[in-house]
Amino acid sequence: TSFAHFTFDEQLMHQIRKSEYTQPTPIQCQGVPIALSGRDMIGIAKTGSGKTAAFIWPMLVHIMDQKELEAGEGPIAIIVCPTRELCQQIHAECKRFGKAYSLRSVAVYGGGSMWEQAKALQEGAEIVVCTPGRLIDHVKKKATSLQRVSYMVFDEADRMFDMGFEYQVRSLASHVRPDRQTLLFSATFRKKIERLARDILVDPIRVVQ
Ligand code: AMP
Repeated sequence: TSFAHFTFDEQLMHQIRKSEYTQPTPIQCQGVPIALSGRDMIGIAKTGSGKTAAFIWPMLVHIMDQKELEAGEGPIAIIVCPTRELCQQIHAECKRFGKAYSLRSVAVYGGGSMWEQAKALQEGAEIVVCTPGRLIDHVKKKATSLQRVSYMVFDEADRMFDMGFEYQVRSLASHVRPDRQTLLFSATFRKKIERLARDILVDPIRVVQ
């Protein structure tokens, strides 16, 4: 498979070419068409597999499809992950590829300044990359609203569970409208993750790296 198979438009292809990737990784080959089709997906993949781009590229296409349909406030896509470092990494990739359409990304994570993050959220962004507890705090304080979210990614779900975030993960999922598209990534597929998938995804397709 080559990048041309994804039928991305010229703006996104331009950003991909700039990154000098020669070909899609296996998780991208399998995952991108599924995510583009609108289906829910479980990706069993580790760091280094290229999983981040596998959910970011279809996310950008989704946002551009939604943006005109749904004017309003708050992010259209949220990416939930376990740590500040991962937030910053994913946020950097969102900015890099989001340039294709001048989309804005904001990262909110525990340990960062509540005030600065709230200010960034209020300035507006189509994409929010977050740790779960911190986004819930911002929603409670009305710094942002999740009413427009229709694409939701949970990255490194098993690590979020290991860190004790199961309640926050489930709570966030319950705050986003049920007709959203949901993607769940995890390095392992244990019983607890399987149960989570059953509860927050609809008829998902499973992809193993
Ligand atoms: P990830 O597994 O998403 O953390 O990605 C691991 C690294 O692979 C990151 O530095 C990406 O920039 C890079 N990467 C993602 N997709 C590709 C690709 N198709 N070809 C080469 N490198 C890639």
